[in-house]
Amino acid sequence: MDLGIRGKTALVCAASKGLGFGCAEALAKEGVGLVINARSPEPLEAAAERLRAHGVDVTAVAADVTTEEGRAALLAACPAPDILVNNAGGPPPGLWSDWGREDWLKAVEANMLAPILLATAVLPSMIDKGWGRVVNITSQSVKGPIPQLGLSNGARAGLTGFVAGTARQVARHGVTINNLLPGSHATDRIVALDAALARERNVSVEEATAIRQSSIPAGRYGTIEEFGAACAFLCSTFAGFIVGQNVLLDGGSVNVTL
Ligand code: NAP
Repeated sequence: MDLGIRGKTALVCAASKGLGFGCAEALAKEGVGLVINARSPEPLEAAAERLRAHGVDVTAVAADVTTEEGRAALLAACPAPDILVNNAGGPPPGLWSDWGREDWLKAVEANMLAPILLATAVLPSMIDKGWGRVVNITSQSVKGPIPQLGLSNGARAGLTGFVAGTARQVARHGVTINNLLPGSHATDRIVALDAALARERNVSVEEATAIRQSSIPAGRYGTIEEFGAACAFLCSTFAGFIVGQNVLLDGGSVNVTL
């Protein structure tokens, strides 16, 4: 299926590996030119090279998307993208009693303010063009709180509220904003979370992985290819009537009817 976005330009944040890279690669396969970002320059350039193999232009911007300077560098490289995929690292696991003001500010900067401010910067040009797609990578924690990820539960809920209102204000201009909610996917992030679970339960990392996977109805972790394909569809010409939605990709983990 041709998604109808060949020749468009996407800014994909936090994309040197993991879910962000999966989204960038799925868009590259559709012929979308890319500006990708991460903090560490070497893995970022290696990712850019892999993406160029799909025959698209790729610019790599090493920057921290949670800072004003980082976002300014991204916007200087790509002031008017057709597609924005918002992403950043997730907050550390812990207990509600572990976190003070600084921890909360970091979580809110990364998982709420950064995507809101980037979207705010690019929405006017999307509206002028009469076409645009914003996809935020959030988390299943938005639908069902994850006990050890209270920082994620809280900060991402704020972004979700912003999207719910704003998506409905820009939709008439051909611009959609939606959220993709990953459950457990096979990335370095889940390796770190499995290691934390292993420490907490005093079991091996392999046992921790097996415990976590057995709790997923699909019986496995998701792949970045599956995730990227869902992102590319939300960015496609066919997804223009999908507005302000929160799409779970969790193998059935969140046990809800709707
Ligand atoms: P990952 O494999 O660890 O990849 C994270 C990517 O983001 C890397 O490219 C990293 O590169 C970049 N990055 C991190 N912080 C950044 C920053 N401040 N500015 C720019 N780039 C940054 O993580 P992932 O599993 O793909 O997760 C992506 C997001 O989805 C996270 O917010 C995570 O919490 C959320 N999520 C993931 C899962 C899962 O199962 N994987 C489930 C639910 C939610 P540098 O380190 O070089 O910057």
